[in-house]
Amino acid sequence: MKPKVAFFDFASCEGCQLQIANLEEQIIDVLDVVDIVAFREIMTDDSESYDIAFVEGSITRPIDEKRIKKIRKNAKILVALGACAHLGGVQKLGNQWTSKENLKHVYPQASSMVISDSNPFFEKPKQKALDEVVKVDFILPGCPIDKGEFVKLVSALLHGKKPSIPDYSVCVECKKAENECLFTIGKFCMGPLARAGCGAICPTYGNECEACRGYVSHPHENAHFAVLEKYGLDPDEILHRKTMFTYRYHEKKDQNKKEEAK
Ligand code: SF4
Ligand code: SF4
Ligand code: SF4
Repeated sequence: MKPKVAFFDFASCEGCQLQIANLEEQIIDVLDVVDIVAFREIMTDDSESYDIAFVEGSITRPIDEKRIKKIRKNAKILVALGACAHLGGVQKLGNQWTSKENLKHVYPQASSMVISDSNPFFEKPKQKALDEVVKVDFILPGCPIDKGEFVKLVSALLHGKKPSIPDYSVCVECKKAENECLFTIGKFCMGPLARAGCGAICPTYGNECEACRGYVSHPHENAHFAVLEKYGLDPDEILHRKTMFTYRYHEKKDQNKKEEAK
């Protein structure tokens, strides 16, 4: 019997699921070996009986926590799909401020009634990555995920193997591609801390890596800062860039600082 696979989404743009929906001819190979029993983006069927759950998106509300716990209970294996699920996504940045501050910043024209203190939606936001709520067995990192990496992960799971997700930095792939390092032309890059596996696609096309795949297991942050300082990069810019996808690595430190300042 083929393993049953289900896809779920929480706070996200659904771009990671779209990557899978766009597998084209490879989807036939995937369907040969698994039964997809729930995937809202491509089918109407739904099921609570599945072996592997792929979950996209960050956890926002108590109702989401309840739902992800139920998914976890039903699944033998749970995979966090993409940066929103793995890291809490860009939306995790909002945890630094109150919802009212976030709304005022994003929608400066919002009426005073909408942003009144009595609005129940103005509790402090608490965007969470999946593993802050439930046990996550494997991650498929990236924003969006890589289609090929998804196929390899499915294959590994079906063969009872641990999926192999690189745990070395994007710089390794960047050097292999013989790119000129962006630091040497005055740009900023998270490559030294970022988990590889994307083929260093951003620096290869001249764009700064934002570490959408998260950090390697043992990032050398101090060494990274030293390099940034060596190239005369502005510390505020550094901090801003460092948290685009990776605020979860700083959240605890920020909370501790706030507690100390009280
Ligand atoms: S990780 Fe990126 S592509 Fe995937 S759901 Fe989140 S925002 Fe969309
Ligand atoms: S451009 Fe970025 S990823 Fe490439 S070598 Fe330099 S720091 Fe590393
Ligand atoms: S280069 Fe960096 S930002 Fe770009 S896909 Fe790779 S990890 Fe993500």
